[in-house]
Amino acid sequence: MSDDDAGAGQGLACRPAAAACDRETERLRAVAAYEVAARMPEEDFDRFAAIAAELLGLPIGLVNLVGETEVTVHGRHGIEVGAVPRGIAFCSHTVESDGALTVPDLTLDRRFAANPLVAGEAGFRFYAGAPLRRPRDGARVGALCVIGQRARPALDARETRLLEGLAALAMDRMELRRSERARRAADARFERLTANAPGAVICADTEGRVTHWNAGAERLFGWTAEEVLGRDMAVIVPETMREAHRAGLARMAARPPGTEFPGRTVELDALRRDGRTFPAQLALSAWWEEGAVAFGASIHDITGRRAAEERLRYLAHHDPLTGLLNRARLTELIEGAGGPAALVLLDLDGFKGVNDTLGHGAGDDLLREVARRLGGALGGRGELVRLGGDEFAAWLGGPEGGGDPERACAVAGDLLAALAPPAAIAGRTVHVAASAGVAMAGPGEAGRLLANADLALYQAKGDGKGTWRLYGAAMRQEQDARLRLEAEVRQAALLGQFELHYQPQVSLRTGRTVGAEALLRWRHPERGLLPPALFLPPLEAGPLAGAVGDWVIEEGCRQAAAWRREGLALRVGVNLFAEQLRAGRLEEVVAESLGRHGLPPSALELELTETVALGQDDARIAPLQRLRERGVGLAFDDFGTGFASLSTLKRCPLTRLKIDRSFVSGLGTGGEAGHRDGDDLAIIEAVTALARGLGLGVVAEGVETAAQAALLAARGCHEGQGYLYGRAAPADALLATPPPARTAPAPRRIADGLRGWTAARIAALPARLRRGARR
Ligand code: C2E
Ligand code: CA
Ligand code: CA
Repeated sequence: MSDDDAGAGQGLACRPAAAACDRETERLRAVAAYEVAARMPEEDFDRFAAIAAELLGLPIGLVNLVGETEVTVHGRHGIEVGAVPRGIAFCSHTVESDGALTVPDLTLDRRFAANPLVAGEAGFRFYAGAPLRRPRDGARVGALCVIGQRARPALDARETRLLEGLAALAMDRMELRRSERARRAADARFERLTANAPGAVICADTEGRVTHWNAGAERLFGWTAEEVLGRDMAVIVPETMREAHRAGLARMAARPPGTEFPGRTVELDALRRDGRTFPAQLALSAWWEEGAVAFGASIHDITGRRAAEERLRYLAHHDPLTGLLNRARLTELIEGAGGPAALVLLDLDGFKGVNDTLGHGAGDDLLREVARRLGGALGGRGELVRLGGDEFAAWLGGPEGGGDPERACAVAGDLLAALAPPAAIAGRTVHVAASAGVAMAGPGEAGRLLANADLALYQAKGDGKGTWRLYGAAMRQEQDARLRLEAEVRQAALLGQFELHYQPQVSLRTGRTVGAEALLRWRHPERGLLPPALFLPPLEAGPLAGAVGDWVIEEGCRQAAAWRREGLALRVGVNLFAEQLRAGRLEEVVAESLGRHGLPPSALELELTETVALGQDDARIAPLQRLRERGVGLAFDDFGTGFASLSTLKRCPLTRLKIDRSFVSGLGTGGEAGHRDGDDLAIIEAVTALARGLGLGVVAEGVETAAQAALLAARGCHEGQGYLYGRAAPADALLATPPPARTAPAPRRIADGLRGWTAARIAALPARLRRGARR
């Protein structure tokens, strides 16, 4: 690179030259615009040449355009010439001067003395020329000149004015030609373009009369150009819009001349010849034509696009399965709520069961049936929404629906009632129930509606299915407390604040402790020892349940091994979390813990409630099967309290049933409870019979009195667990307790128990079993 100065110097030197260059380019562009126009019939310009020559008393007159390499002659007088090379043409100098150029004697002028037109045969001596200036910007495109073969005095002021005046007239003429030609070219272009355009192109004059009507317009509207040219363009405007259309045209036509009209696009209905209307998109323009406003429109039929948009809008706002509004639409309704509003949120109970057992087709049928019933029950009181899955909502907006909690709760009640009758789905009778949460919002508070209704729904579900709850501020406080507890429980797990207590399981026949159930406790730093009821729900709600459950297995095994070393060979019962089955690592965890502590598989018994077993598919039950085959015990906890106890029996590879406490607590109380006694006894007999039939062990839970123990033993129950034998306590306590007093062995009535309990009698049980579930 050279130094900066050189570069700067070069730039400076270049600038004037560059400017001149630009000017010349622009000038040549102007010349080109006139060349074609000027060439057509030439007599006009010949006349200008002749008048100039005659007025100034010279033999030759010319009208020239000065091009890049040659000067073309467009008007001539006194000489036959078409073009002259630019280098020798006198007019090349005229376009470079501001005014007229006169050379009294060409032979005496250094610029021309050697010019072949001067020195040669032509022998020209005198030249006078005036530049032709483009009207728009004064660009000098050529010259009008006169030439003589004799020297004479320079043009005087009058002659100069004459020559310049004639030059201006010639230029006007040339400009007129150019613009006419340009207009014709534009017209031709427009005709061509619109003839082949697929859409309609229509033009009209100030009065709205059609001046252009292309083939596309003929196709779109059904009128031929012949029929409509010169007629009112309102033929394509539907009757109802004609007044507005005319007023619009009049407004535009009244604008001051020269006003710019920005183009705009509108969508309107347009009218066909056959009287049908259709949605159209119109790109409108207006411009000035000879002092009056003219109008143009390019028009497209947008029926197809409208239909697609309509469909998209519908899809965006509706649930395809039920045709109800969808969550997105509900969000819009909530966001757009101007006044008070109410929301009823509804969640089906047990829908997943239908889907799983009857298949998804039946599930869809059920959802449609639910939508139909809810729609009927809601009537015109609000908008029905399917939020997804088995969640529905009723939006009660507007002044009459929104502000009234009683009304909203009535809606919730009606919706739930509509679902109560059983439905016939896939040839089966299906019972659907639901729970509902209701929330109200004043103007501008709709944002919290969904969350509040959700909380109320959660509450309703907790309070028992088939009910609704109205959101109240206390719910939010409870929820906050729940979330705090959840966080605390997570913390407890990480800090190792959990410990296991053990409750003995005793043989009803021998009175000996044969096992111990491990029960989880939380040693809270401030609140002391907490039972599972206070922390299991939040633990199970979070992701840590699996890890805590695995720890329980490991710790239970460690304790069992420790006892064994002390000479106490107890079976340790461990409760499972649903999460442990879901995680799929159970088999591994159990095998590792047993191995680590050198325990036989029979030293461990996993306890499984129906809630844990239910909702697990067969793949998740399979590991239990394999553990069972290894010799690990599998007890069905809280037996008799679930809905599907008997069917769960079939699915799970059990070794033992644990009769739920609720069936034991009423035993042996006599008196008024005597009646229930009979019920409970019947159930206990049924369960023991069942267990015997299936080859399962039986443990009764909640044994608090010796009388209960005796009754249980008499009904063939093998083992008991309860306060009678000891509460859950730290592991050491179990070593310390003296063996409990032997329960008097009651006469065994195995045969009686069995005989009474036919399959038919067992099948008749579920009603009572269900009552147990509501405990
Ligand atoms: P569960 O498995 O049915 O455990 C028996 C519950 O009954 C224990 O309550 C026990 O203290 C109580 N109980 C025992 N005998 C009697 C009695 O004679 N009378 C009365 N009224 N109650 C008696 P706890 O320890 O509060 O445990 C409650 C539930 O928490 C357990 O019910 C079990 O479902 C769950 N749980 C406890 N520990 C664990 C654990 O480590 N893992 C899992 N997944 N669940 C656990
Ligand atoms: Ca248990
Ligand atoms: Ca239990």
